[in-house]
Amino acid sequence: MKQKSNPLPDVHGLVLDIDTFAVHDGPGIRMAVYLKGCQLACKWCHSPESQRAGPELAFVRDRCVLCGVCAQACPRGAHAVSESGHTINREHCEACGRCVEQCASGALALKGHHVTAGEIIDRASRLRPFFEHSGGGVTLTGGEVTCQVDFAEAVLAGCRSRGIHTAIETNGACPWEQLEKLLPHSDLVLYDIKLIDEAEHERWTGASNSPILGNAARLSGRAVQVRVPLIPDITDTDENLRAIFAFMNGVGLESLAFLRYNAAAAAKYEWFDLPFEIEGEPQGRERLQAILAMAREAGLEASIS
Ligand code: SF4
Ligand code: SF4
Repeated sequence: MKQKSNPLPDVHGLVLDIDTFAVHDGPGIRMAVYLKGCQLACKWCHSPESQRAGPELAFVRDRCVLCGVCAQACPRGAHAVSESGHTINREHCEACGRCVEQCASGALALKGHHVTAGEIIDRASRLRPFFEHSGGGVTLTGGEVTCQVDFAEAVLAGCRSRGIHTAIETNGACPWEQLEKLLPHSDLVLYDIKLIDEAEHERWTGASNSPILGNAARLSGRAVQVRVPLIPDITDTDENLRAIFAFMNGVGLESLAFLRYNAAAAAKYEWFDLPFEIEGEPQGRERLQAILAMAREAGLEASIS
């Protein structure tokens, strides 16, 4: 009798993007799936379009030729186009995509599309030879993976059952129960820690770091890499870095990677009419070496990603 194969799960998720050649999101060559929605609103976020839970409209002003076709297509009157310029009333936009279909110059795009867990698993399965050759796998990132926990669990479990290495990248800003659902299906946890001072954390991310640090303290003994984004004069100060090292030593986490500051993210903020408030330059080679040395002196296994 022919054996039945496991059906692919029909759990739906909202995905910003899928990168099938990601090299900074865990070991080897990986399929990185960027989920939409996040509990935090970090002012330096390199994908601000990932923060909101629904699809949203991107507008690349340089490409707009002020033809006005989008204004005619929009049922909500969200576009105002004249010879002097083009504005979008985002409160009126319901992300239907009609204007995107009509814009011939490619100035508009809808960010966020629905997929099923089965579609992701199927795509990952076809990439398995590349994963096996490079020691890679699938990483669920975002946005924030715990904002779509049922979808993430279905994808991770499905990939795992097909012998694919799985990783999650999380900000940890969720109830422990949500993170706990994903851990049995994750071979590696990439765990972001930004600021130890709670008031500073609230100032720059819009939320307390209390659940983040509390959840991190429960991860000892698992395959975890802490990730620290190096934001000039905010997270990259000696004071904050030393506090992160002390915290990690206190809760038994040993591995960390520093993420270099990416100033190029500023352009994306314009696409969504968002302010970008971060100033400063990426750290130079000397400063990066000094940061690595500090972490290693603190007894941690450190790298720059
Ligand atoms: S349809 Fe495209 S090019 Fe024309 S006004 Fe709208 S955004 Fe600009
Ligand atoms: S996505 Fe839909 S609602 Fe939003 S601006 Fe375009 S046509 Fe209007």
